[in-house]
Amino acid sequence: MTAIRLALVAHDARKDELASFAERHRVFLGQCALFATGTTGLRIMERCPELDITRLKSGPYGGDQQIGAMIAENAIDVLIFFVDPLSPLPHDVDVKALMRLALVYDVPMALNRATAEMVLAAVLRGGKAAGEAAG
Ligand code: PGA
Repeated sequence: MTAIRLALVAHDARKDELASFAERHRVFLGQCALFATGTTGLRIMERCPELDITRLKSGPYGGDQQIGAMIAENAIDVLIFFVDPLSPLPHDVDVKALMRLALVYDVPMALNRATAEMVLAAVLRGGKAAGEAAG
Protein backbone atom coordinates (compact mmCIF):
# COMPACT_ATOMS: atom_id res chain seq x y z
CA MET A 1 0.00 0.00 0.00
CA THR A 2 1.35 3.43 -0.86
CA ALA A 3 1.71 5.77 2.09
CA ILE A 4 -1.07 8.26 2.64
CA ARG A 5 0.24 11.77 2.00
CA LEU A 6 -1.04 13.80 4.91
CA ALA A 7 -0.77 17.58 5.31
CA LEU A 8 -0.97 19.00 8.84
CA VAL A 9 -1.62 22.65 9.67
CA ALA A 10 -2.82 24.35 12.85
CA HIS A 11 -3.32 27.96 13.78
CA ASP A 12 -1.52 29.07 16.93
CA ALA A 13 -4.49 28.61 19.27
CA ARG A 14 -4.98 25.04 17.98
CA LYS A 15 -1.40 23.83 17.79
CA ASP A 16 -1.48 22.09 21.17
CA GLU A 17 -4.61 20.25 20.14
CA LEU A 18 -3.04 19.11 16.87
CA ALA A 19 0.17 18.05 18.64
CA SER A 20 -1.92 15.95 21.05
CA PHE A 21 -3.88 14.51 18.14
CA ALA A 22 -0.62 13.58 16.42
CA GLU A 23 0.69 12.02 19.61
CA ARG A 24 -2.43 9.89 19.96
CA HIS A 25 -2.13 8.71 16.38
CA ARG A 26 1.65 8.57 16.22
CA VAL A 27 1.76 4.93 15.11
CA PHE A 28 -0.53 5.58 12.15
CA LEU A 29 1.17 8.87 11.32
CA GLY A 30 4.47 7.03 11.28
CA GLN A 31 3.18 5.11 8.26
CA CYS A 32 2.19 8.27 6.37
CA ALA A 33 4.18 10.72 4.32
CA LEU A 34 3.78 13.83 6.47
CA PHE A 35 3.91 17.47 5.41
CA ALA A 36 3.31 20.43 7.70
CA THR A 37 3.62 24.18 7.78
CA GLY A 38 6.74 25.31 9.60
CA THR A 39 5.67 25.97 13.17
CA THR A 40 3.02 23.28 13.22
CA GLY A 41 5.60 20.74 12.08
CA LEU A 42 8.00 21.87 14.77
CA ARG A 43 5.41 21.51 17.50
CA ILE A 44 4.47 18.01 16.38
CA MET A 45 8.11 16.95 16.16
CA GLU A 46 8.70 18.18 19.71
CA ARG A 47 5.98 15.78 20.88
CA CYS A 48 6.74 12.97 18.46
CA PRO A 49 10.44 13.15 17.58
CA GLU A 50 10.28 9.84 15.74
CA LEU A 51 7.94 11.24 13.07
CA ASP A 52 9.53 12.21 9.81
CA ILE A 53 7.80 15.43 8.77
CA THR A 54 8.60 17.53 5.72
CA ARG A 55 8.33 21.05 7.07
CA LEU A 56 7.29 23.73 4.62
CA LYS A 57 7.39 27.47 5.24
CA SER A 58 5.41 28.93 8.08
CA GLY A 59 1.78 29.53 7.07
CA PRO A 60 1.89 33.33 6.96
CA TYR A 61 5.12 33.15 4.91
CA GLY A 62 3.75 30.91 2.20
CA GLY A 63 3.37 27.49 3.85
CA ASP A 64 -0.39 27.36 3.30
CA GLN A 65 0.15 28.20 -0.35
CA GLN A 66 2.82 25.52 -0.66
CA ILE A 67 0.34 22.93 0.59
CA GLY A 68 -2.29 24.33 -1.78
CA ALA A 69 0.16 23.92 -4.66
CA MET A 70 0.82 20.32 -3.59
CA ILE A 71 -2.92 19.66 -3.61
CA ALA A 72 -3.12 21.08 -7.13
CA GLU A 73 -0.29 18.71 -8.12
CA ASN A 74 -2.17 15.72 -6.64
CA ALA A 75 0.55 15.31 -4.01
CA ILE A 76 -1.70 15.39 -0.91
CA ASP A 77 -4.36 12.79 -0.04
CA VAL A 78 -5.71 14.26 3.21
CA LEU A 79 -5.59 17.73 4.75
CA ILE A 80 -5.90 18.14 8.52
CA PHE A 81 -6.14 21.82 9.27
CA PHE A 82 -7.05 22.85 12.82
CA VAL A 83 -8.47 26.30 12.29
CA ASP A 84 -8.83 29.02 14.91
CA PRO A 85 -12.35 30.39 14.38
CA LEU A 86 -12.04 33.12 17.01
CA SER A 87 -9.04 35.20 15.95
CA PRO A 88 -8.46 37.45 12.97
CA LEU A 89 -5.48 36.24 10.93
CA PRO A 90 -3.19 38.34 8.75
CA HIS A 91 -2.94 35.53 6.21
CA ASP A 92 -6.66 34.84 6.01
CA VAL A 93 -6.55 34.97 2.21
CA ASP A 94 -3.98 32.16 2.18
CA VAL A 95 -6.15 30.09 4.51
CA LYS A 96 -9.14 30.57 2.22
CA ALA A 97 -7.06 29.73 -0.85
CA LEU A 98 -5.87 26.49 0.75
CA MET A 99 -9.39 25.45 1.70
CA ARG A 100 -10.63 26.38 -1.73
CA LEU A 101 -8.08 24.15 -3.46
CA ALA A 102 -8.94 21.26 -1.15
CA LEU A 103 -12.56 21.73 -2.25
CA VAL A 104 -11.68 22.09 -5.93
CA TYR A 105 -9.64 18.87 -5.90
CA ASP A 106 -12.03 17.03 -3.55
CA VAL A 107 -9.35 16.32 -0.98
CA PRO A 108 -10.70 15.13 2.39
CA MET A 109 -10.24 18.12 4.70
CA ALA A 110 -10.70 18.05 8.47
CA LEU A 111 -10.95 21.48 10.05
CA ASN A 112 -11.37 20.34 13.65
CA ARG A 113 -10.46 17.42 15.89
CA ALA A 114 -13.81 15.66 15.72
CA THR A 115 -13.68 15.52 11.93
CA ALA A 116 -10.00 14.60 11.91
CA GLU A 117 -10.77 11.58 14.11
CA MET A 118 -13.46 10.48 11.67
CA VAL A 119 -11.25 10.97 8.64
CA LEU A 120 -8.43 8.95 10.18
CA ALA A 121 -10.87 6.22 11.20
CA ALA A 122 -12.18 6.12 7.63
CA VAL A 123 -8.67 5.98 6.20
CA LEU A 124 -7.74 3.17 8.58
CA ARG A 125 -10.89 1.25 7.69
CA GLY A 126 -10.57 1.73 3.98
CA GLY A 127 -6.81 1.52 3.87
CA LYS A 128 -6.87 4.37 1.40
CA ALA A 129 -7.63 8.06 1.46
CA ALA A 130 -10.84 8.92 -0.32
CA GLY A 131 -8.85 11.29 -2.51
CA GLU A 132 -6.61 8.47 -3.62
CA ALA A 133 -9.56 6.18 -4.31
CA ALA A 134 -11.21 8.83 -6.48
CA GLY A 135 -8.06 9.49 -8.49
P1 PGA B 1 2.48 27.62 11.03
O1 PGA B 1 1.43 28.03 9.93
O2 PGA B 1 2.36 26.17 11.23
O3 PGA B 1 3.84 27.98 10.46
O4 PGA B 1 2.16 28.44 12.24
C1 PGA B 1 0.09 27.68 10.07
C2 PGA B 1 -0.80 28.80 9.68
O5 PGA B 1 -0.93 29.74 10.47
O6 PGA B 1 -1.42 28.78 8.61
